[in-house]
Amino acid sequence: AKDSGKNKYNFYSEDLQKMVYQRHILENSMRKSLEREDFEVYYQPQVDITCNQIVGVEALIRWKHPELGMISPSHFIPIAEETGLIIPMEEWVLHTACNQVKEWQQKYNKSLRLAVNISPHHFQHENLLKTIIKTINNTNFCGNSLELEITETAAMQNVVFTIKVIENLRKMGIEICIDDFGTGYSSLGYLKKFTIHKIKIDRSFICNLTNNTNDAAITDAVIALSHSLNLMVVAEGVETEEQLELLRGKGCNYIQGYYFKPPIPAMEMEELLKEQNTN
Ligand code: C2E
Ligand code: CA
Ligand code: CA
Ligand code: CA
Repeated sequence: AKDSGKNKYNFYSEDLQKMVYQRHILENSMRKSLEREDFEVYYQPQVDITCNQIVGVEALIRWKHPELGMISPSHFIPIAEETGLIIPMEEWVLHTACNQVKEWQQKYNKSLRLAVNISPHHFQHENLLKTIIKTINNTNFCGNSLELEITETAAMQNVVFTIKVIENLRKMGIEICIDDFGTGYSSLGYLKKFTIHKIKIDRSFICNLTNNTNDAAITDAVIALSHSLNLMVVAEGVETEEQLELLRGKGCNYIQGYYFKPPIPAMEMEELLKEQNTN
C-alpha cells in the first residue's frame, strides 16, 4: 500500500511537472511565433437567414506551429490569456482582419461586416479603445462594419468600466455581440445595463435543437427575449438543414456553422465572396 501510494505521488508530480514544462515551452514558442507571424486568421461566414447571403465573417485565429502543425485556439488561448500574450495576439488579429475585410468590401460587398473575438482580459484593458482607434485609422476600416464578440463573463467583470467602454465604442459605430450566450454564470440584468446589439446563442443549445425539447425551449426563449429587447440573434454551430429550418421558423436572424461553411483561410473566403457577388 505504501508503495502504490508513493507511485501515485510520483505519477501526479511527474504529470504536473510535464504540464508546467509544456506550458513554459508553449509560452516561449507563442512569443516567437508572434514575432514571426506564424499565426493565420481564418474566416467563418455569417449568413442572413432570410436571404441566404453572407453578410459578415467572424475572424478566428489559427497557430501554424513550425513543428507541431496547425494548433486549435482552444489549446493556446487559455495560456495566452494567463500570460497576457492574448493582447498582442488579438491586436494582430484585429489588424489583419480589418485589412482583409476592407479589401473584400472594396472588391465584392461594401456592407460586409467583421466580427472579432475579444478576451475578457483584453476587454478590461485600459488600452483597448486606443488600439481599436489606431487599427481602424491605420487600415481605413469603417467602425460601422465592426463588431466585437465578448462573453458574459468579460462584460460582468467591471460593470461601470464596461458601460464606459461600450459607450465609447458605439461613438465609433462599433457594436457588441454577446458570445456563447447562455453558458456564462450571470444574471440577465446586464442586458438592460449595456447597449449591446446582438446575441449569439451558444452551440451547445443548437446541436440538439431538433431532438431535445429543453434546448428547443431555451432557444425559443432567447430569440423572443432578444427580439423584445431589439437585439439581433445569431445561432452558432448550425450543422444541419433541420436545425436551419427550425431556426428560420423561430425567427432567428443569422446563422453560422458547418452547414454553411467551417472557418476557412482568406483565399477560400474570397472565392465564396466572389461567387456570391456574381450570382
Ligand atoms: P467561438 O468564438 O465560440 O468560435 C466558434 C467556434 O466554433 C470556432 O472554433 C468554430 O470553428 C466552431 N464552429 C463553428 N461552426 C461550427 C459547427 O457547425 N460545428 C462545430 N462543432 N463547431 C463549429 P475555433 O475556431 O476552434 O475557435 C474556438 C474558440 O477559440 C472560439 O470560440 C473563441 O472562443 C476562441 N478564439 C478564436 N480566435 C480567437 C481570438 O482571436 N481571440 C479570442 N479571445 N478567442 C479566440
Ligand atoms: Ca466568437
Ligand atoms: Ca461562440
Ligand atoms: Ca461557443
